[in-house]
Amino acid sequence: MAQQMGNQPLIVLSDDSQRTSGKDAQSMNITAGKAVAEAVRTTLGPKGMDKMLVDSSGSVVVTNDGVTILDEMDIEHPAANMVVEVAQTQEDEVGDGTTTAVVIAGELLSKAEDLLDQDIHATILAQGYRQAAEEAKSIVEDAAYEVDADDTETLESVASTAMTGKGAESAKEHLAELVVRAVQAVAEEDQVDTDNIQIETVVGGSIDESSLVEGVIVGKERVHDNMPHFKEDANIALLDTAIEVPETELDAEVNVTDPEQLQEFLDQEEAQLREYVDALVDAGVDVVFCQKGIDDMAQHYLAEAGILAVRRAKKSDIQALSRSTGARIISNIPDITADDLGFAGSVAEKELAGDEKIFVEDVEDAKAVTLILRGGTEHVVDEVERAIEDSLGVVAATLEDGKVLPGGGSPETELTLQLRDFADSVGGREQLAIEAFADAIDVIPRTLAENAGLDPIDSLVKLRSEHDAGNSTFGLNAYTGEVEAMDDQAVEPLRVKTQAIESATEAAVMLLRIDDVIAAGDLVGGKGDDDGDDEMPPGGGMGGGMGGMGGMGGMGGAM
Ligand code: ADP
Ligand code: MG
Repeated sequence: MAQQMGNQPLIVLSDDSQRTSGKDAQSMNITAGKAVAEAVRTTLGPKGMDKMLVDSSGSVVVTNDGVTILDEMDIEHPAANMVVEVAQTQEDEVGDGTTTAVVIAGELLSKAEDLLDQDIHATILAQGYRQAAEEAKSIVEDAAYEVDADDTETLESVASTAMTGKGAESAKEHLAELVVRAVQAVAEEDQVDTDNIQIETVVGGSIDESSLVEGVIVGKERVHDNMPHFKEDANIALLDTAIEVPETELDAEVNVTDPEQLQEFLDQEEAQLREYVDALVDAGVDVVFCQKGIDDMAQHYLAEAGILAVRRAKKSDIQALSRSTGARIISNIPDITADDLGFAGSVAEKELAGDEKIFVEDVEDAKAVTLILRGGTEHVVDEVERAIEDSLGVVAATLEDGKVLPGGGSPETELTLQLRDFADSVGGREQLAIEAFADAIDVIPRTLAENAGLDPIDSLVKLRSEHDAGNSTFGLNAYTGEVEAMDDQAVEPLRVKTQAIESATEAAVMLLRIDDVIAAGDLVGGKGDDDGDDEMPPGGGMGGGMGGMGGMGGMGGAM
């Protein structure tokens, strides 16, 4: 970029930099943002299509999940990436509604483009959009209805709505039941930490054979073949220390010269291990999970005592066991007492996906659970897993907030209508922005209709007339094509909608307020920069660095 100063150009940016300003910058960003929304639009809703994504190494992902598609697409345009972030925020905050959020963001940008063309200033637009978003949140909050934490039926409906249109759909009733049981098992006073729900995927078998283990699965085998495979009504010890004689004592052996002395040391070591195992036996231990190693000799003693032992268990597994069996994690074995032990009705070594694992089930309070998902092929199982993750997210959000909305474009239709009234009450130029926002939200029912192969105009007209008549739970049933009450068909947590409105608005506003894009290097990405390093520029020198120097030189010349 050069500016005239006298008759010498004043160069403030390097030769490699690119700058786009004013309307050009706005329209470039809007185009990029819309392109992202366009990429996921056809996947929205129960009748949405899937995408097949192939990465540079040829590995394939088949999915319907918005955030997965955008992550796999490896998008590099900075403005496009801000829209991708909308999906990521949605995924982090709720786990579902990623496509919805991105499609709304794209439509907000598209409507903004029309207004910018009519010379409405971006600042007015941004203000109007923010105001509309605030109002929108309170409209959906009013439309939401309450759900109790023990209302399993509604929770299952929420769980299965999140699975519609995904690979999990064929078994959604069974899976919804598992998801709700899993979330209810780990819920603590309306707080749900989905990290306590582990997912194990197994290729082979059918999706309906998926199951829930209310307890912990430890990914290890028994340490010794002579140990029992199964323990009923088991007292469990958790150790974060090894059942070995400490290294420092063994080092002493180095100085042993006399064979008799050596024997003495070995005897001492054995006696020490014996003492450890006796301490466990005396405390009444049936099963030991050890985070560190177990000496061969100790394994033998444990097996003799009929104890099932596991070594090198993961720290996270030990913690999960502690939470669910009530066992205290012990660091000093001789101190162990019966009070430190946890309890499980069943501890058993079983095969899972070709590996032996230890299943700890039938526990007092399964604060950790494992969902075992099965499916015919790896791609199927992966897509089922993504659907289950969405589903866990929405059930957790529902339990935490206790508020849900009917699906099928019902809240969006209500929003469009009420926001238009709100726009009238605001007046001024913001009114236009709020109206644009109201119309943008309509993209959801319109897209649901399009993706279901229905006539979008017909569907929207029906939806509006029902909502005008006060049927505020009416939405579009994508399976039948009917506009009907959706509260017993598809139910979503309120948070899916409030979060989608919030992040879509923030991203759109942020992009609209940009009127200058200055990029150090090629705008479409890091990849280009790498190439630049390989090809030496003709004049020799060091790529970007030299370009920068050239710019400085130009500046110097102007002085
Ligand atoms: P997202 O990534 O936004 O969750 P989905 O593909 O899961 O995208 O689609 C969610 C949309 O599908 C929501 O608007 C939801 O209300 C709608 N939906 C779910 N079930 C039905 C149904 N049976 N009929 C119509 N719409 C439905
Ligand atoms: Mg969804």
